[in-house]
Amino acid sequence: MQEKVIQITGSITVDELANALGLSVTTLIGQLFKEGIVATINQRLDFDTASIIIEELGIEGVKLEKKNSSTQISHERRELSDHAVLRPPVVAVMGHVDHGKTTLLDTLLHKKTVEGEAGGITQHISAYQLKYDDRLITFLDTPGHEAFAAIRQHGAMLTDIVVIVVAADDGVKPQTVEAIKFAQSANAKIIVAINKIDREGADVQRTMADLSQHGLQPEEWGGDITMVPISAKQNQNLDKLLDMILLTADLEELKADVDIPSEGLVIESHMETGKGSVVNLLVTGGELKTGEFIVAGNTYAKIRTMVDFRGKPKGKASPSTPVTVTGFKDLPNFGDKFIEVADEKTARKMALLNANASQDATASANVTSSDLLRMMNVADNSKVFNVLIKGDVLGSVTSVVDSLKMIDTKGEVTLNIVATGVGDITENDVYMATGENTVIYGFNVTVPINISKMAARDNVVIRCYKVIYELLDDAKKEMSNLLDAEIVETPVGKMKVKGVFRTERTSIIAGGEVTDGKVEPGVLAKVVRGKDVLGEVKVESVQKEKMSVPELVSGEIGGLALSTEHKIQLEIGDKLEFFTREERRRSL
Ligand code: GDP
Repeated sequence: MQEKVIQITGSITVDELANALGLSVTTLIGQLFKEGIVATINQRLDFDTASIIIEELGIEGVKLEKKNSSTQISHERRELSDHAVLRPPVVAVMGHVDHGKTTLLDTLLHKKTVEGEAGGITQHISAYQLKYDDRLITFLDTPGHEAFAAIRQHGAMLTDIVVIVVAADDGVKPQTVEAIKFAQSANAKIIVAINKIDREGADVQRTMADLSQHGLQPEEWGGDITMVPISAKQNQNLDKLLDMILLTADLEELKADVDIPSEGLVIESHMETGKGSVVNLLVTGGELKTGEFIVAGNTYAKIRTMVDFRGKPKGKASPSTPVTVTGFKDLPNFGDKFIEVADEKTARKMALLNANASQDATASANVTSSDLLRMMNVADNSKVFNVLIKGDVLGSVTSVVDSLKMIDTKGEVTLNIVATGVGDITENDVYMATGENTVIYGFNVTVPINISKMAARDNVVIRCYKVIYELLDDAKKEMSNLLDAEIVETPVGKMKVKGVFRTERTSIIAGGEVTDGKVEPGVLAKVVRGKDVLGEVKVESVQKEKMSVPELVSGEIGGLALSTEHKIQLEIGDKLEFFTREERRRSL
């Protein structure tokens, strides 16, 4: 394998160097610390420091090279060499639930993948490629927008184009807006597929108007967003959509280097009996081959088998190709960057470095959160939301965790993820959730009947979801329930006291004129003398001309029976300011 060259123009940030080496930022910062350099993620390191660190880390097969040009190494995309080659676009399909994402991906898969070959694909696939007009397009099926956010956090740009699916009979909905925001923040090109045009009630013009309200101006109206009316179900106009995807790709001139060590991202991973870890990768640079050593996060692999999305063996995979590999020692995480290294020794060393760093990070994170709890004096843990998460694949677990972390509790509720795992809910999960008031969230998993019985017996709540937004809505509600209620006082009226008929320790009978609003039994009142508030009383009953009445309104004169907690000597001329007080549940 050829040596990996990292070019440095003057200096390189910690983040960029970690990315280029395939190490986590914490590992690199840890190593710098050992060398006596306290660095942050954005700190710039000069050529010599970077060289020393690489040497100290014992990473082989990497060479630093000084570069004189003024161009910076891009944060998100590798700088390409002159002989970079064109690569297929990577397309993600997003949009509101039920607007037709799955149908679109399925129709394309079955109609277009190298005619007939798609037949037989029954299991869920996280990515596939189709050939159209003799060119390849890579489609990603994503567990959720949050998963993309997770990938973005790893500093990699995965999607070139986001196809936003909007149903023409339903218009822009909350998740459509989220998809738009996601695509914009990921700097991906947007193409809108206005779907379900075969439906009665479909209104393409109205949908376009709706979209333009949200900042997407259709090309037809002088804007810059391509919008293609389609029917995913009836295979109408899908060729046009594919044409537009290729046209957009052409304008973007999407390229990658193939003569570099291979690299890419983990897009799915799970365990399979007999095969061990089965990991879906998307190659973003170089050519991935069986037999190569790659490192991803805390683990590494000597690639044992590699197949394409149809399950056909593949000897090598070029940029933008999704493949499924076996050979990983442990499951890498969704969104982990993978990188080819020279040999097993380097692979093991880098994985270990990353593992130690993440363990350190977890350990220190634990200390901080418990310290924090102590400092906040949360004696009964009432503001801690404990949750255990299970998902069908690692990608969905990561997605759920990341999205839960994104719920803004304004620091009032602490999210405590007790454990996470892949697979159905087990006895051990219920056991772990007992006593700690922990809710178990399952995503695309099932609960065996004996487990749900056990949970019911132990008062453990298990909730299962297939749609991430429903899970998030519920989590928000659960966290809102932990918030202190807000106390809201609403003024209802005022009275000027004109006579005090009896004063006892806990009750007063007085009369007066309502000068503002009204007074009715049950409301509270502040007793005001001049500028002072003497205390608070409660109106027990209201009388007018010796008869009980439901209320007295402004301008009326009448009597009140008031109750107090402490004796108040009411006087003529005092004012009663009536108000109601209620506790309102707050929501996040
Ligand atoms: P997703 O939640 O966005 O993945 O939506 P689905 O692909 O599951 O589609 C939701 C429903 O809309 C299903 O019942 C589909 O059959 C239906 N559907 C999707 N596309 C079309 C279309 O173009 N025309 C019609 N009439 N129905 C569609």
